[in-house]
Amino acid sequence: MKMTKIKKALSVLSLVFVASVTAQTNTKFKVTLDAGHGDHDFGAVYHGFVEKNIALSVALKVGKILEQDPSMVVNYTRKTDVFVDLVERCNIANRADANLFVSIHCNANRNQEAYGAETYVMGLSKSASSLEVAKKENAVITLEDNYKQKYAGYNPNSPESLISATLAQEEYLDQSIEFAHKVQDNFDVKLNRKVRGVKQAPFMVLHKAFMPRVLIEIGFISNKEEGAYLNSEEGQLNIAKSIADAIFRMKADHFGGTVPVLDIKKSERPVKKDTIKKTVETPQVKEAPKVIESKVSAVDNSKPVFKIQIKASKSEIETSPANFNGLDKISVISEGGFFKYMYGETNNYEASKKLLTEAKTKGYDSAFIVPFRNGVKISLNEAVKKK
Ligand SMILES: [Zn+2]
Repeated sequence: MKMTKIKKALSVLSLVFVASVTAQTNTKFKVTLDAGHGDHDFGAVYHGFVEKNIALSVALKVGKILEQDPSMVVNYTRKTDVFVDLVERCNIANRADANLFVSIHCNANRNQEAYGAETYVMGLSKSASSLEVAKKENAVITLEDNYKQKYAGYNPNSPESLISATLAQEEYLDQSIEFAHKVQDNFDVKLNRKVRGVKQAPFMVLHKAFMPRVLIEIGFISNKEEGAYLNSEEGQLNIAKSIADAIFRMKADHFGGTVPVLDIKKSERPVKKDTIKKTVETPQVKEAPKVIESKVSAVDNSKPVFKIQIKASKSEIETSPANFNGLDKISVISEGGFFKYMYGETNNYEASKKLLTEAKTKGYDSAFIVPFRNGVKISLNEAVKKK
């Protein structure tokens, strides 16, 4: 074992150091970055700005930032100007067993006044404008060979026809929403761009990726001013930093570790912020979780309590082992319109890792540790630090 050799070679003092660093970084966080479009599929083209080029450039920049952290594993659906089928983009993420799938696109609208960034999660939408965006992005399948056979039953003009597949994947929705908010918050606060909020729509490129997944429309290239920003080196670099920062935060919140400081430059000529309230079509995840059911336990709630979230669902499920692949000690909280089911609880972080492994062996692949103090969610870093 490599680790053993290293440890042997080090003094007792540095051994302690190595052990603690290892504890923080031995969980790799795998991200699949998906640059929209490619080759003969240009995406949207306005004012000489080409979506496929901007998307690729931003995706490569995000990857370059992430790759500097050895605990990040990055893979790409494309690194050059090539055409990749939408379903293959999902397969690439699935084969990589990615923890997060991030698809990067540019928006466009005939109304060239429209501007601002939006981040989509997979799902049903009642909003005509969100469905329009999904329809436009999904339309690229008609450029693929044999698309009628490959996407049998799917009508690109009716994004709703994807929905039956979507409902089965509710378990990834709350983390997708959580990540989408991190991206939009960064665009808003750190980058000083206009944000149009977290939205939900049926995107073909998301629907067969089995992990938390989002599609980011980084802005409108149909808007001359925003298009110029998206097309600029500085714009792309800072958008990439904002996305990378959100990914680092997602990792830190669920897997621990630190968030590197990325010097994100606010837009020099920020597009005027409008006073319209942010569109939120999806449930907010920021409200404090409400504990619905908490069995009497031996944990000290004034100290960090680690639980394992195994499932999130819109519907309430009885917390019997039969409903949770045999796992007992299930508690449930209500948050952001979801019932979130937690397995076990302990004040000991190391013990919670064992619970996590147990949950995974019972089939909950996307399970993760959630720390609480006095019934309120806290970050993993805070929990481990102040233990
Ligand atoms: Zn696109």
